[in-house]
Amino acid sequence: MNENDLKFECIRCGRCCTDKNTLVNLTYSDIIRIKNGLDLSLDELNHILGFYIFEEELTEEDKKKMVLSPVETEKGKAFVGLIKKNDGMCYFYDEKQQKCLIYNLRPNFCRTFPFSFKVKSDTKDPEIKKIKINLTEKGKAYCPGIGKDASVINQEEWLKLGEKTIEDLNQNYHIMKEWSDLIEKEEISASAKNFLKFLLKIKERK
Ligand code: SF4
Ligand code: SF4
Repeated sequence: MNENDLKFECIRCGRCCTDKNTLVNLTYSDIIRIKNGLDLSLDELNHILGFYIFEEELTEEDKKKMVLSPVETEKGKAFVGLIKKNDGMCYFYDEKQQKCLIYNLRPNFCRTFPFSFKVKSDTKDPEIKKIKINLTEKGKAYCPGIGKDASVINQEEWLKLGEKTIEDLNQNYHIMKEWSDLIEKEEISASAKNFLKFLLKIKERK
């Protein structure tokens, strides 16, 4: 589908907040925004985060679908996301009110769902870079907001969000690389708590 024809309107069904197989992944800036916004201590922050380890080795195809890389922890490589309740619902989803309790602080994953963004070079002039919008596999699988009855998306607004998201992912990439280097050089032991302390130190540095 041509991206100019993408149709989407969130109908607030809550599926992206309640699907047990959807990981609400977090970047560095998401973690800091939520920590500061809710005024959480390190232990409280640790409590709302999940470090998810897949039981089965991910295939190369699965890895390509993951927007963020896993981080080293004491239990192995883990994907960082918001913790879920026992039924797989996001910790911050209020089922009764059917709404997000941290809407203004919500992760980029939630802001951009059901889309993902990529920078692509222009076919005629590779120097010219453009942001491309795509539907995510999860979005295609269960988001009822996508469809022929929805309005065509506001390209300008989504591209602006795409630009911010790509900057955020780039920043995150460098921070994760710094963390991996520290582990590799054995300057710090790999643990979820040390990882969070490391993120907070980066915050102090900025
Ligand atoms: S699944 Fe789609 S329509 Fe439902 S709340 Fe999420 S973004 Fe909105
Ligand atoms: S943070 Fe909010 S918007 Fe994101 S999955 Fe949780 S409840 Fe839904």
